[in-house]
Amino acid sequence: MRVYVVIPKKYNRFLEEELALVRTIYRDIVGYEVVGGRNNKTYLSTRKIEKLRALEFNKLVVMDRLRPPQLINLVREIKRDVIDRVLLILEIFAIHAGSREALLQIELAKLKYTLPLVKEAIRYAKLGELHGFLGAGRYGYEKYYLMLKKKEVRLRRETENLRLVREIQRRARRELGLPHVVIVGYTCAGKTSLFNAITKLARPIGPEPFTTLTPKAFRVNYKDTNFILIDTVGFIRDIPPEIIEAFYATLEEVVESDLIINIVDISKPIHSIVEEINTSREILRKIGAHGKPAIYVLNKIDKIPVNTNLLEEINKHIGDNEEIIPVSCIRGVNIDLLLEKIYVKLNRR
Ligand code: GDP
Ligand code: MG
Repeated sequence: MRVYVVIPKKYNRFLEEELALVRTIYRDIVGYEVVGGRNNKTYLSTRKIEKLRALEFNKLVVMDRLRPPQLINLVREIKRDVIDRVLLILEIFAIHAGSREALLQIELAKLKYTLPLVKEAIRYAKLGELHGFLGAGRYGYEKYYLMLKKKEVRLRRETENLRLVREIQRRARRELGLPHVVIVGYTCAGKTSLFNAITKLARPIGPEPFTTLTPKAFRVNYKDTNFILIDTVGFIRDIPPEIIEAFYATLEEVVESDLIINIVDISKPIHSIVEEINTSREILRKIGAHGKPAIYVLNKIDKIPVNTNLLEEINKHIGDNEEIIPVSCIRGVNIDLLLEKIYVKLNRR
């Protein structure tokens, strides 16, 4: 699948992260551009659309939230598949869902988001346009719509049933005894790199795609302690409100964990770092993981030396139960020290 990416100006600061999000699902990005103006009907200007029509790709990924008419109009104009940032993030969530329940919640969110699109598509499908958009080709959009509606009812029922089962499972897992250590952090902070550094598991890491898609829990043995290390989907910037519940569902492993490793890219400007730390603490509070022991891992010290100002600044923003350690996952600096800290924290429980 060859994709072309359109990124709104507001994400200019996070260009690398936005592209990394796309790469999580689509490895073959043939090009991208940052766009400014917004067209009410088609999101992109007529000139941009003309340009895109001449380019070779199969799918357009617009890293913004599109209204249903905008998305459908873009499909009609460009004559290729189009997805927006919300649909992309939902795909990423689906891949990371740690349980059947999380997956169901994500599917429900996707249905809710897709139904208005299909409704809009029905209008055009009658004119014979939009062939195959959203995978509805074989059915026709009206049948597709009905099918989705039925699926929604089924998913709702199943989610309810699962809630009960899960409570029992959770207790069983606790009794198994191994503590859980989860790695969280923003896209590109180095979660997977840290996971690899600790597990010494030679797995490909970003910018390679499909980095965190495969099973991401690993049993680690250190001294006389065993624990399960988990690489999570982490925090994605600017989650659209419609899918916030689904987002929290992907973080359920964090709620059930014994220790949180929050990894931060310290080669970023200090205000971004502080902003990320505050936002992630806010998210942790929302999902009920606040107050758990945490270690802040300041990653990429090979790129930038840690200075005491930064350490002091970060110290102001973290809690009593939390501490800081600078590392380089790529160079393997301080990973052993981190392991020791994990060990101490786990045994202090
Ligand atoms: P994730 O999105 O949090 O899982 O981040 P990844 O582990 O995939 O890493 C994102 C990018 O940061 C990759 O290009 C890594 O090579 C790079 N990276 C990770 N750790 C380090 C580090 O210690 N130093 C440097 N310079 N780059 C790193
Ligand atoms: Mg990763």
